[in-house]
Amino acid sequence: MSDDRSSLANRAVSPSPEEAARESRHEVLRELLGAYADRELPPETVAQIDAHLVGCAECRHSLEVHHTLRARLAVEPPAAASPAFRARISAAIDAAPVPTAPRIAADARVTPGPRMLWLVASGWVVATVLALTLAVTSGSASRFTPSTRALAAPVHDVPLLGAVVDDYARVSRGDLPGRARDLDAVRAAVSFPVEPLRAPNLRLLAAWTTDVRGEPAAVLAYRLDDRLLVQYLVPEDVFFQHPAIRAAIADHHLLRAADGDRTVVAWPDSSTGNVLVGNVPTESLQSIWRSESTR
Ligand SMILES: [Zn+2]
Repeated sequence: MSDDRSSLANRAVSPSPEEAARESRHEVLRELLGAYADRELPPETVAQIDAHLVGCAECRHSLEVHHTLRARLAVEPPAAASPAFRARISAAIDAAPVPTAPRIAADARVTPGPRMLWLVASGWVVATVLALTLAVTSGSASRFTPSTRALAAPVHDVPLLGAVVDDYARVSRGDLPGRARDLDAVRAAVSFPVEPLRAPNLRLLAAWTTDVRGEPAAVLAYRLDDRLLVQYLVPEDVFFQHPAIRAAIADHHLLRAADGDRTVVAWPDSSTGNVLVGNVPTESLQSIWRSESTR
């Protein structure tokens, strides 16, 4: 204990070269976090910041602030269009011809040749793609993902999930206890397969082992865009223990739950259970799960 105290005191007086180097990296990189959040940096700088974020809770916190500001700016409603302008828009929409497949065929009054059929078909493809794009960008994408089921209990009533959420809160406040290159060590340390998640914008930052309520768990930390996500892999018998988990994932559903502003999803693999936690919308976690289940 007295050793700890004297080393702390020494550190306060003269930081080790490693700490001094980290501090100067911190001073440089924190100025770039805004550009990082806006994805304006070259890949080599992004990689440097990724590595720094693993060991710098302060920069991770700043990044959350950037993200929140960006999200708020994005949802800030644009200046409302004047009623006259809106009226002109709807008049223009009403006046625009609405080509539909049957009408084109009837107007043509000829048997449509292959070329015309192709045009009609491609018109429908364009319309369908547009409709899907509109549906996705207008935030109604969740209607296309009916296969999630909310946990029918508070997160902390399910010991596994409560422990995971508490652990997430702890690691997201401090330095992450591993690096991405530790994945092989994690695989060697646990008796179940450990395969990182793959999804667009998802980068593995760190891997380590821990125990969740006395059971071994593999922990993988990722950045999703500029948010921290943590995946906990536990043996299947641990995962299936609680009836609320079994009920939520029955019939291949994805369990979803929320604890404050933290979102949790969980699903079983062939021999493990996965619990994914992040300070992100449920839809983001769902889409990761979808890319996993279609892999
Ligand atoms: Zn930092």
